[in-house]
This record gives sequence, structure tokens and C-alpha cells, in this order.
Amino acid sequence: MPWYDYTCEVCAEAFEAERTVAKRDDVRCPRCSESRVRRTLPRVHAILRSGSSETACPCGESDSGCGCCGSRN
Ligand SMILES: [Zn+2]
Repeated sequence: MPWYDYTCEVCAEAFEAERTVAKRDDVRCPRCSESRVRRTLPRVHAILRSGSSETACPCGESDSGCGCCGSRN
């Protein structure tokens, strides 16, 4: 079963839980037992983002455009 990250909408407790995909929203806060919890993005998301070069300048200088080739986003 995959692990998911959650944040409680009532007490802001951040926690993780092991759940099947079908039951991933069937979870309660371990601190206040509230069922209104928000599932947060898994940590792997940040890794994917840092590995992307789709928005980089063609010369490889900068993510937001550089002076050497005039490329701008
Ligand atoms: Zn809570």
C-alpha cells in the first residue's frame, strides 16, 4: 500500500498514513480525530520538478531567460 501525506484542516497536524488508493481519503487526524483532512502532494513531486528542463533557456544558462540568446519565458 502507498503512503500518503495529510494535513488536518482543524488543528493543522501533518501526518502520513498507509492507505489503499480506494481508501486514501478515508482517514482521520491522529491528534483530534477529525475526518476533515486534506491530502497533500507526495514528496516525489519536488524531485520531478527539479529534474525538468522544459522551461530552461536553450543555452542552458537560466530557467527564466538569459542575456546571451535573448530567450524569455
Ligand atoms: Zn486534527
